[in-house]
Amino acid sequence: MAANSTSNTDENIPVFEYNDINTKPFHVGSFRTAWLEKLQPVDYSYEEKDEETRDAEFVNEMGIAADTLDELKGICRQRKKKQDYKGTLRIDKISRVDHYQNELESLAVGKRPDNPSDLVPEGEIILSINVLYPAIFERFKYVRPHMTLHMLGSHSLVDLRDAICCISDLQVFGEFSNTPDMAPDFLSKDHFKSAFFYFEGVFYNDMRYPECQDISETSIEWAKTRDFPPFAKAKMEDTCFYDLTLKVGYPYLFCHQGDCEHVVIVTDIRLAHRDDCLDRKLYPLLTHKHRVLTRKCAVCHVYIGRWLTTNDPFAPNDPCLFCERCFRMLHYDQAGNKLGHFMAYPYVDPGAFN
Ligand SMILES: [Zn+2]
Ligand SMILES: [Zn+2]
Repeated sequence: MAANSTSNTDENIPVFEYNDINTKPFHVGSFRTAWLEKLQPVDYSYEEKDEETRDAEFVNEMGIAADTLDELKGICRQRKKKQDYKGTLRIDKISRVDHYQNELESLAVGKRPDNPSDLVPEGEIILSINVLYPAIFERFKYVRPHMTLHMLGSHSLVDLRDAICCISDLQVFGEFSNTPDMAPDFLSKDHFKSAFFYFEGVFYNDMRYPECQDISETSIEWAKTRDFPPFAKAKMEDTCFYDLTLKVGYPYLFCHQGDCEHVVIVTDIRLAHRDDCLDRKLYPLLTHKHRVLTRKCAVCHVYIGRWLTTNDPFAPNDPCLFCERCFRMLHYDQAGNKLGHFMAYPYVDPGAFN
């Protein structure tokens, strides 16, 4: 696009920085404004045009005759019939859970809200965002699958933050062999609320709660002494996607729990279409979630692991994973007294989110 143009609007029409990888930075809100100025309201309206009007427009646009269109329609119908038949021959091998997930996703397609006030406004933008697994877990080092979310331009960054489910938020830290009943109430998310997003030189800190700390400060100070360009900061809760300047396709950062770092990539920004989920209440819309294999109890091999023990004379290996039942049965008497010496750490299986 007009790279040598000096008008502000044109600077915010994304162009590739690296072909097919990422764009140059642009301001999301201005990009949307440029769109809305260029298009007619009828172009992004949710109203469906009747078939006659659509046909006439198509014929006009393609420069073909009306009977060519009829011919095309006939061929398409035949192809569709063949395809549908072929579809019935294929045996679906995907699992029940995948099936359910696909179904969930297609349920949201074109969904209208029960209450008209929840309708996503015409001309709203939808961002597709990939959130990758953190690299701190050994098992995610080589495969880094992710979750994909659709967010609206009017969403604030805290909406994204709250939609990211990461097992480190649910990790329970501490040794609880003496008081196993106390463990589940102590969740990291309640204790360590600080977090930030990083986009284009700006750290967006979650400062909603009094106990939140500005955890970007260390990085900003460190960068100052290292001859980096200066970094700015802002509040996550005061920033919506329209306010952001970013590159589409470029890896940014979400950091929480001190050192749990996720790569965040905005893969697409577009205007809402009538076939999108138009119920504002269903956003942030989860459209993809990678499923993780669960780790089973080392004793019964049936239930999901819930406790990790070390220095444990009852365990076949060290550390060892137990389900709630086997853990209690092996390590405590009927009155709940601890038997022998061992350490026990609550364990949250990443598969618990499937
Ligand atoms: Zn995390
Ligand atoms: Zn078990």
